Amino acid sequence: MSVARQLACVKNCLPEGTVLVAVSKTHPVEAIREAYEVGQRIFGESRPQELLAKYEALPRDIEWHMIGHLQTNKVKYIAPFVRLIHSVDSARLAETIQREASKCGRTIDILLEIRVADEETKSGWDIGGLMDYLRSAPFALMPNVCVRGVMGIATHTDDAGIVARDFAELRRCFELLRPHFGARFDTLSMGMSHDYRLALAQGATMVRIGSLIFGERDYSGQAGCGA
Ligand SMILES: *Cc1c(COP(=O)(O)O)cnc(C)c1O
Repeated sequence: MSVARQLACVKNCLPEGTVLVAVSKTHPVEAIREAYEVGQRIFGESRPQELLAKYEALPRDIEWHMIGHLQTNKVKYIAPFVRLIHSVDSARLAETIQREASKCGRTIDILLEIRVADEETKSGWDIGGLMDYLRSAPFALMPNVCVRGVMGIATHTDDAGIVARDFAELRRCFELLRPHFGARFDTLSMGMSHDYRLALAQGATMVRIGSLIFGERDYSGQAGCGA
């Protein structure tokens, strides 16, 4: 099936108001253009250099989201244009984004990535550590960073009960954090191709869907980070 048709299918399954991030990592510019031509404007990527190259090759009204783990020394590649960084998992990264955003004269929207999965490999804040960090009101000192909400990834398992538990925990963290931020704290980014229905059932406002739209990714020839 074509990208346009897969995209239409996915959109049909989303409740009114849910934001769809079309995750285009590893897929070529032509595939993104196909989705763009049928109206998709929000795309997610997980490598800064790939994101920058696609930004340069494609129309300027695309909203680019950074969804993958971000090293502080790579923030500079995307700071001039990125619309939302989902994967802010440390104080150091938030402070780096503040610095780079200020250099560009921009405010950058971010999500706080929280670790809920049972897997050591997943990144993100531990909610206790994040609450401690927030006690000193650090974001008041970051005028070029706007915290818009929470992002997370569920445990990779076929057990729907565990996945639902992880999403419920993300929802709880979202509600717990909300009073620390202003009215613009409105985004709960959770759910991917294989588990977005469970995420929606737990209150996701934004889903990140790649393979259901663009097909399976081919990582051959790349350093083995896996899907
Ligand atoms: C790749 C990726 C997705 C999309 O995964 P699919 O299974 O292709 O839908 C979503 N979120 C993050 C953080 C990703 O890295």
